[in-house]
Amino acid sequence: MEVLHEYRQGRRWIARLPYGADLLQSLEQFAAAHDIKVGRLEVIGAVSKAVVAFYDQEKKEYGALEFNEPLEILCCTGNLSLREHTNRAHLHIILGRQDGSTRGGHLMSGTIVFAAEANIEELAGPELHRGFDPRTGLPLWEKD
Ligand code: ZN
Repeated sequence: MEVLHEYRQGRRWIARLPYGADLLQSLEQFAAAHDIKVGRLEVIGAVSKAVVAFYDQEKKEYGALEFNEPLEILCCTGNLSLREHTNRAHLHIILGRQDGSTRGGHLMSGTIVFAAEANIEELAGPELHRGFDPRTGLPLWEKD
């Protein structure tokens, strides 16, 4: 394991996301509005539809999966950092269906909030930037 930086607890927010909002975009807008450069996120609630992705490690590309049905957000967790100097959220989500089965993946834009409660925590310390990693093809955190 490679430690990139050490952080202290920063500001904390409890927020309710608006009905009809795009889940990922709302969190990124919140991070930009409050200048949260590094942080962690937790969201529970429900969505009216969802778009997630699965990363194909051989092709090095994301394949999108769209679920056009009401779903519970059973668990949605992730982080905030910077990519090309913009606030970016990276979240993974587990969604519950009416029969108790689950769907999930890497959260994409197009996931629409029915009701959602977010716990947003800032980590105080150095900026954390994402950059292209040739081995994985992913925008991973960089050590500077
Ligand atoms: Zn991911």
